Amino acid sequence: MDVLIPAEQIRERLDALAAEIGRAYEGKPPVTVVGILNGCLMFVADLVRRIDFPVRVAFVTASSYRGTATSPGRLEIHDGLLPDLTGRHVLLLDDILDTGKTLTRIVAHLLDRGVASVKVGVLLRKVGRQEVPFEPDFVGFTIPDKFVIGYGLDFNDEYRHLPYIGVLEGGEG
Ligand code: 5GP
Ligand code: MG
Repeated sequence: MDVLIPAEQIRERLDALAAEIGRAYEGKPPVTVVGILNGCLMFVADLVRRIDFPVRVAFVTASSYRGTATSPGRLEIHDGLLPDLTGRHVLLLDDILDTGKTLTRIVAHLLDRGVASVKVGVLLRKVGRQEVPFEPDFVGFTIPDKFVIGYGLDFNDEYRHLPYIGVLEGGEG
């Protein structure tokens, strides 16, 4: 396995990202951080500890099922753990922006629930993979089109615990 982003570099980037988020929420509206499990685990935990205004923290789960040539993929959103978000400003956090389908769907879902606003932060953004137009508000790192693991990201539910972002051998695309 190759290390793509070492732990130290993640820490430094999160410091800057938290400062950027602080400036974006100047005036301190009621903010709820909503993480998309399971991949957001480390990103949420490390980022909220750097945010210096009061936030609530909540989670949703999204499971996607790969489609076949004849039937498209399906995304199930489980939001049973979400508190009432009416009037709250949501900072939605995910591990990685790939095609953009997951985040597009979840943003629409949150707006349906009556949130005051949604901003989106992703730790990683893959270049050349987006299928739907979607602009995240905060991006940790832009990475090449390789399958990455670690720091919350899995392969067959393994490797999430690694403190760095790595690329598996032969993990192209
Ligand atoms: P999207 O809907 O943007 O295509 O999918 C985003 C989701 O796909 C991420 O939240 C993540 O779960 C998964 N994903 C996309 N690329 C990678 C990758 O390189 N590594 C891992 N482990 N998961 C990925
Ligand atoms: Mg995910």
